[in-house]
Amino acid sequence: MNQEHILQLKALLGDAIACDVPMCDYTSFKIGGKADCVLFAKNEEQLRIALQFCAENKLPYFVMSNGSNLLVSDRGMRQLVIMIREGFEEIRVEGNFIYAGAGAKLARVAEAAAEASLTGLEFSFGIPGRLGGALTMNAGAYGGEMMQVVRSVRIMEKDGTIHDVPAHDLAFGYRTSRIAEGRIALSCVMELKKGVEAEIREKMATYQQARKDKQPLQYPSAGSVFKRPVGYFAGALIEQANLKGASVGGAQVSEKHAGFIINKGGATCQDVLDLIDFVQKKVYETSGVKLETELRPVGDLG
Ligand SMILES: Cc1cc2nc3c(=O)[nH]c(=O)nc-3n(C[C@H](O)[C@H](O)[C@H](O)COP(=O)(O)OP(=O)(O)OC[C@H]3O[C@@H](n4cnc5c(N)ncnc54)[C@H](O)[C@@H]3O)c2cc1C
Repeated sequence: MNQEHILQLKALLGDAIACDVPMCDYTSFKIGGKADCVLFAKNEEQLRIALQFCAENKLPYFVMSNGSNLLVSDRGMRQLVIMIREGFEEIRVEGNFIYAGAGAKLARVAEAAAEASLTGLEFSFGIPGRLGGALTMNAGAYGGEMMQVVRSVRIMEKDGTIHDVPAHDLAFGYRTSRIAEGRIALSCVMELKKGVEAEIREKMATYQQARKDKQPLQYPSAGSVFKRPVGYFAGALIEQANLKGASVGGAQVSEKHAGFIINKGGATCQDVLDLIDFVQKKVYETSGVKLETELRPVGDLG
């Protein structure tokens, strides 16, 4: 973004706009150069103003929440980055329904469900994202996924208009939905079932322990790097190709869970991209399976 556009956005949106923001501070991978301009959106009106400005000036923008499924370029991001976090964190329980903002952390939403003795969100407890990212990605684990509980999503279109979209119109699939492509998820309605609080909490604790046992949670990462290929497990294929511990620079295929690439310290985006490329080639050579990435590379990738 050029300086003039940044100054105009600052005039319109005040201190919600920040410049030269190191994206490594906003991604679970702890990787990424500076974003020229970031909107830390506090409300829908700010989003509408920003989208209108981008449309009028033909500027690209990128929407994100907790940055736990992103690999940001070392050269940073030239487009306007729109963060949906604080300001969109409300969680309300009414009967079997939960109304939650896209900035709410999944762990908090799952906690609210447990407190109200509602079952169906236990799977999401240990996923380190916010609702906006989880809806867009149709996040899932342990047999559960967002599409099982989401009834509708309140969406802001590129032109700033807002409407509630029923879940069946969002084309939820394996780690995908129709929310992306410049649309912004603002909040959603989820329907759960009545359960027993102690049983719900026990399930959450079991899943959390399984993550601790199997995943390299002590290192920065973006979770599973690859989608699960039909009929296989990415981690097993990578292990069979003898790639556990393989590394490029500071990026390493985790010894604990081959489906994860971890940042052992000082890893660059390029290290991770090169390692992904290497893993894809080796796995294809040994098994004939083409691994597709689940994490999303973004920014000035050259
Ligand atoms: C240790 C670890 C474990 C993980 N385990 C799992 C797991 O078990 N299952 C799983 O599915 N994932 C897992 N993940 C990946 C990640 O946490 C999920 O995909 C999560 O749902 C992403 O949410 P986020 O808020 O971080 O999204 P971000 O990374 O910020 O964004 C992800 C995508 O969503 C889009 N997006 C974000 N917010 C919005 C919004 N409000 N409106 C429109 N688009 C938006 C972004 O443009 C981007 O394309 C794991 C990650 C880590 C680091």
